[in-house]
Amino acid sequence: MPVPARLDHTKLLAARYRAAGERPYLATALYALSVVESDRVPTMGVDRHWRCYVSPAFVERTPVAELAGVWVHEVAHLLRDHHGRAARLPAADQRDAHRVNVAQDCEINDDLISDGLALPERRMEPALFGLPNGQLFEAYLPALPPGPPPHNCGSGAHGRPEPWELAGPDGPSPVSATEAKALRRRTAESMRAHRRTRGSLPEGWRRWADEVLEPTVDWRQALAGAVREAAAWASGAVDYTYRRPSRRSAALRGIVLPSLRRPLPRVAVVVDTSGSMGEGELAAALGEVTGVLREVGVRGNRVSVLACDADVHAVSRVTATEQVTLGGGGGTDMRVGIARALATPERPGIVVVLTDGCTPWPDESPSCRLIAALIGTEAPQPPSWIETVRVPG
Ligand SMILES: [Zn+2]
Repeated sequence: MPVPARLDHTKLLAARYRAAGERPYLATALYALSVVESDRVPTMGVDRHWRCYVSPAFVERTPVAELAGVWVHEVAHLLRDHHGRAARLPAADQRDAHRVNVAQDCEINDDLISDGLALPERRMEPALFGLPNGQLFEAYLPALPPGPPPHNCGSGAHGRPEPWELAGPDGPSPVSATEAKALRRRTAESMRAHRRTRGSLPEGWRRWADEVLEPTVDWRQALAGAVREAAAWASGAVDYTYRRPSRRSAALRGIVLPSLRRPLPRVAVVVDTSGSMGEGELAAALGEVTGVLREVGVRGNRVSVLACDADVHAVSRVTATEQVTLGGGGGTDMRVGIARALATPERPGIVVVLTDGCTPWPDESPSCRLIAALIGTEAPQPPSWIETVRVPG
């Protein structure tokens, strides 16, 4: 009878050390995993409590470089909340856990491979099924051919508990759902910081980190909502003035009606024309703003559009959105545009700034509502008193 292999902890942990050293933004997440030795797990697998089940035989036959890749693979299942997302699949799709697992591995591995990580030979990747890279597992799942080879990274991936997993959250240091959320956030922040200082991050991780830190909301809806709300505020409609009921409303004795006489606000839209802005996104954001203003009745000479190019310190008033031409390039200072907008005799109650965000902002809140539509995913965050809507580039 062959003697079952004992887990080579030194080799396994050397591989994790290597993975964390090479991808430091993953270190916190990698070290949150606790190791559970198991002869029944095919290779390595995880459960939702961040326990990593490890086959001693797999560790023995796999080189350290590849084991490091597998560590990253396993932690990716948990960071990407695969089990949570699997639970939101239609019931029919959830039934085939191993097929879900293959789709999830495709979501992970295309990034790991393009990031230069070594992975064991029997690995799933989109190319195996003639599928494009860069998609989420929910998109791969229906596109997989019937009966892909069985693949099993544990319930931390596909969501269905496996016989080799510990029951319940007992055992070595389980990670709770709340802790997992914090780990995801912290990892996403380290990725951002890594990208800022080293400038490189695989595309899949960049998208993931953006989504964790700023879940996508429909920017059109958010921008329209912000403009609509500001217009209502500026016209005094939010702070209802309860006037003495007129005689005509005597029939409504006891009911006080808010005044319906609202002055329409003036609005200035300041457009950043520096070179870093994308024309398509800018046009879309500008169209959204003017569309909402028209809808709430703010139009004509109540809206002014200012094109702001800080390089030449030129601010020009345009009468049609088509007149906004991008160019300039280099530095941007939207303070110039905001000051110019507020210096006009018919001072606006609302200033909407369309910018890539790479600009200094006024030191304090001017006496108007300021909305920043930040175009592009890279846009730095303005001061907290500025209402911001992110328009993905
Ligand atoms: Zn996997």
